[in-house]
Amino acid sequence: MIRAMLHFPQGFLWGSATSSHQVEGGNSANDWWAWEHEPDRILHGHQSGEACQWWAGRWEEDLDRAVDGHQNAHRLSIEWSRIEPHPALWDEEAIDAYRTILQGMRSRGLTPMVTLHHFTNPLWLAEQGGWANPKVIGWFERFTRKVVGALQDLVELWITINEPNVYIYSAYVEGVFPPGERDLRLAWKVARNMVRAHAAACGAIHELSAAARVGVAHHFRDFSPLRPGNPLDHGLAAFRHSTFNELFPRALREGRLRFLHWREQVPEARGTQDFFGLNYYTRERVGLDPWRPGDILRPGDYPEQADVSPTGFIANEPEGFWEALRWAHRQDLPIYITENGVEDPSDQIRSRYLVCHLRELWKAANYNWRIWGYFHWSLVDNFEWERGWTQRFGLWGLERETQRRVKRPAADLYAEICQANGLSSESVSRYAPEILEALFPPGPPTILE
Ligand code: BGC
Repeated sequence: MIRAMLHFPQGFLWGSATSSHQVEGGNSANDWWAWEHEPDRILHGHQSGEACQWWAGRWEEDLDRAVDGHQNAHRLSIEWSRIEPHPALWDEEAIDAYRTILQGMRSRGLTPMVTLHHFTNPLWLAEQGGWANPKVIGWFERFTRKVVGALQDLVELWITINEPNVYIYSAYVEGVFPPGERDLRLAWKVARNMVRAHAAACGAIHELSAAARVGVAHHFRDFSPLRPGNPLDHGLAAFRHSTFNELFPRALREGRLRFLHWREQVPEARGTQDFFGLNYYTRERVGLDPWRPGDILRPGDYPEQADVSPTGFIANEPEGFWEALRWAHRQDLPIYITENGVEDPSDQIRSRYLVCHLRELWKAANYNWRIWGYFHWSLVDNFEWERGWTQRFGLWGLERETQRRVKRPAADLYAEICQANGLSSESVSRYAPEILEALFPPGPPTILE
């Protein structure tokens, strides 16, 4: 019997998210493919290889799984290196293949959300300096025009760039994504080019499609002070928020780009989002050791008692999601959660993580904030970048040798949520009974706590 139900607004989008390189397989014309073939770049020497064989046609069966699970939307990305394998040489067959996938989504009742850049670059672009080369602004606009011109009758929701802050940090600060740089000056150049490329792409999309709505998938990481009350740690948390979370949104909100001591006006970028895409995974603690100032950009950590995922990559910190939502709400745009999820091959934590986060989202929606959809990362296990296949984010597991998909319990939980357009106490009692009381406290109602 359902005793309580956390309802979501009518017309809410419930989906999952994927990206081209992570699921398609055989993306041999991009920089990630080359990177994976270099020694010691990817954990255990893993490679994307055939991935989930979406390019070979398995997108159909996976999208059937999404539909059987009552999802009504899906976020995917278009692989630039397939569409434009050489500068200004277009592969029309690749465009047709994406048309077929998008038509397949629509005929299944899945609203498409399409990302134009999700971490990978055509090799020819990488060879010409990648995102550090200002010509990328025009090249990205040209690619956007080609794609949007060909697919605009099938797509209204466009994401220009996925997680520019993660891309810049991983590729130009930490050096774990290609081109493997650790150079803050280059990071700054890339940030400038990405903001401008987004602005140019946004203008092009609107020019080509009256119905289009454009956003960026912003990654928000909640930074909390390691030692509460310690001014150094508070200062560092504020600094990390400002350089990492705010870098892009500030530029698109105010037309001003700021990174460390660099400053620049980018007026053309102001107001170039119709919605705010929010990716949230976790919160981390940061502390400043005055004797090691060079560590200010080093990743933080989780408390010892944190509810962490099997490889320790993600802590289940729904309060951090609440902070993310409050911050996103202040941007004054409709919000889509464009990614949220956890790596977990045996589904120890996923159901708990999912319902804890959805309760925060429900609170936000019930404050009447404009929360319009949620895309879980991910539909099926996929290639996890520098961590290779060591992390499993899928509602469905993937046996790589056979390509067999294995349904995880959280897939059924998510299906119940999507079907009901809400989260019931009954679902929680079956899939995550350990937190039933925390999510549905007994006794007199405490509204929206
Ligand atoms: C990225 C995804 C990635 C996920 C989990 C996000 O930062 O957009 O591509 O798979 O995190 O690691």
